[in-house]
Amino acid sequence: MIDLRSDTVTRPGEAMKAAMITAETGDDVYGEDPSVNRLEAMAAEVTGKEAGLLVSSGTQGNLLGLLTHCQRGDEYIAGQEAHTYRFEAGGGAVLGGIQPQPLAFNARGELDLEQLRRVIKPDDFHFAISRLVCLEDTQGGKPLALSYLDDYVALTREFGLSRHLDGARLFNAAVAQQIAASEICKRFDSVSFCLSKGLGCPIGSMLVGTSEFIARARRWRKMLGGGMRQAGMFAAAGIYALQHNVARLAEDHANAARLGAGLADMGIALAEPVQTNMVMLDPRASDVRALRDFLATRNIIISGPRLVTHLDVAAADIDVVLSACADYGAAR
Ligand SMILES: *Cc1c(COP(=O)(O)O)cnc(C)c1O
Repeated sequence: MIDLRSDTVTRPGEAMKAAMITAETGDDVYGEDPSVNRLEAMAAEVTGKEAGLLVSSGTQGNLLGLLTHCQRGDEYIAGQEAHTYRFEAGGGAVLGGIQPQPLAFNARGELDLEQLRRVIKPDDFHFAISRLVCLEDTQGGKPLALSYLDDYVALTREFGLSRHLDGARLFNAAVAQQIAASEICKRFDSVSFCLSKGLGCPIGSMLVGTSEFIARARRWRKMLGGGMRQAGMFAAAGIYALQHNVARLAEDHANAARLGAGLADMGIALAEPVQTNMVMLDPRASDVRALRDFLATRNIIISGPRLVTHLDVAAADIDVVLSACADYGAAR
């Protein structure tokens, strides 16, 4: 089976499982799990932040980011299609009383800075208090240019706003641009990134920021039921992933590029160029449901126009997918 639905479907490999089984553990709510402490220090180090926090999911990391930056009656600005706004069950509004101000992403996955400037609220008691601007990197498989981030930093500074990055695929962005993750992260006050996607862990995300910020986030995590005990078994997977599964994301990107080019060659149009591990088919140009149903008969799973490469898709699998797509084209 070749599963291209998402990079969340990766399963822990033998070496990662061995690291988990032999992990040193302790009670993390007491701060005594050496593996968790080590992973949190490594996450801080690789992102250039003071401190890190192991959280259960990217959703929890982003929610802690919102709750820690914002008070009740504050507002955060995020993309209309941003995970934080659209796919996290409205947690900031439900649990934090934080009003979202969504804005469309442009074709590069950015919030247009002129539009952003227009939605930032002046200090007037009619309005919620604009507090935070969230970005996503990669956004729909697109890495954000550092020059754009610099302009975003300048604008948020002008208005005294905080900056949070939903970096679920932070390392895809860094590897694709051949820069250190810290180059991206230094432009944000806080960053969440997923261990459970391209990095291949069974569970977990990290939130990083200043020590003071992470101390406050840790209280929110406890309140949300996220204080875990011998979490070192999961942290060990994260440590393994940061050591072994970051640089290899380049293979996923090369596989996605080859898949995208091969599909385009056979007339299955892409909606946009492949930049990292996602191939976006143009749903107006091809019948994606028919393709999905055909591929399912070959044990290849896609769920829609987005095909995602990851740790459990080998270069040889790309050949299998391309030849199945060629058969699909010939049969029509
Ligand atoms: C997957 C993802 C998250 C977090 O998802 P969880 O399933 O909660 O770990 C956050 N943001 C983006 C952009 C994502 O793709």
